[in-house]
Amino acid sequence: MKKSVKEPNTAKWGESTKLVRGGLERSHHGETAEALYLNSGFVYPDAETAEDRFSGEQEGYVYARYGNPTVTMFEERLRLLEGAEACYATASGMAAVWGALACQVEAGDHIVASKALFGSCYQILTSILPKFGVTSTLVDGGDLDAWRAAITPKTKIFFLETPSNPGLQVFDIAAVAGIANANGICVVVDNIFATPIVQKTLPLGADVIVYSGTKHMDGQGRVLGGAVVSSREFKEEKLKPFLRHTGPSLSPFNAWVLLKGMETLKLRVMAQCDSALKVATALESMDGVARVIYPWLDSHPQAALCRKQMTAGGTMVTFELAGSKPAAFDMLRKLAIIDISNNLGDAKSLITHPATTTHRNIGQQARDEMGVSDGMLRLSVGLEEVNDLIGDLKQALGA
Ligand SMILES: *Cc1c(COP(=O)(O)O)cnc(C)c1O
Repeated sequence: MKKSVKEPNTAKWGESTKLVRGGLERSHHGETAEALYLNSGFVYPDAETAEDRFSGEQEGYVYARYGNPTVTMFEERLRLLEGAEACYATASGMAAVWGALACQVEAGDHIVASKALFGSCYQILTSILPKFGVTSTLVDGGDLDAWRAAITPKTKIFFLETPSNPGLQVFDIAAVAGIANANGICVVVDNIFATPIVQKTLPLGADVIVYSGTKHMDGQGRVLGGAVVSSREFKEEKLKPFLRHTGPSLSPFNAWVLLKGMETLKLRVMAQCDSALKVATALESMDGVARVIYPWLDSHPQAALCRKQMTAGGTMVTFELAGSKPAAFDMLRKLAIIDISNNLGDAKSLITHPATTTHRNIGQQARDEMGVSDGMLRLSVGLEEVNDLIGDLKQALGA
């Protein structure tokens, strides 16, 4: 059904070429940009063809919940970028997380996850999957003995996010994957904060990678989307049967927006990483800032590991104010350029107070365990002039 386009050459392309041309399949009109096939159904020349498409004997589209040419182009582009065998697009990042986890467990199974998790991922593990008899143990992602000790005969998945949201904790993917591989456990990595530009997790031993296209891939605040990157076997045997019948398909329009976003992904992410390092460095010497967390600062607790498994520090900077929540709210009130928003990876710099927004629902105890303090702010560094951003932060701190 999915024609692999110019397969032998595209795999050898450099990253930037893959981002601009990967997956492009032009129609007979020869359009320059990727075509937007805004259609849900497909017609057949005769009943025999329809029968063959449904039996799988003939490749071709049957229904947009199963696949659509614009969505395929997006999947191909990301698949090539990751150097993976397969990619499956979803309606959102959470649909990707849910699909990647739920498609491979049944009642009685067990998941071990790093406790530094995105709020909705935490909800899936601690309140949704348990309703179906799937339990989880949350561990300190940096404690390898804790990962090992949490394994039961029913453990099917190790799930981790690195750098984590919002604390930007960084965990050793290769070490965690080593433990999983030795025990026949599937490693699922949420690589959303790092982006596929800054961190390639397949070579480190990850089996499945989940993405939110909503974040850096769109990067301009327009659409929701997601994707699961995996082996062909995982996609065909586990993921596709689960997602096709449960329905969180990526809309062709959103796929088209994401395709155009991918063309500038590397340029945007690298520029945002450059600015993020400058912003983090400047924040370290600003009054009222108790602590700055950024993977490319020497002060990061895992600085050496960051440089080993990432190629830049990422676009997110987290910092803590000495004056706790009142100081954080006061700063947010005074910001003149940076917007208050819980989205991230955008061209516009966005800041959020995790304790009262993204991490509100998990409760005080879980926040304490994750290190999400009331004085913590999470900044997504955008594409504005970096000196304007530093100036805005400085004036908002009352300096
Ligand atoms: C945003 C995000 C998600 C969910 O993505 P959506 O597209 O919003 O569904 C999952 N994990 C992390 C780390 C995120 O930042």
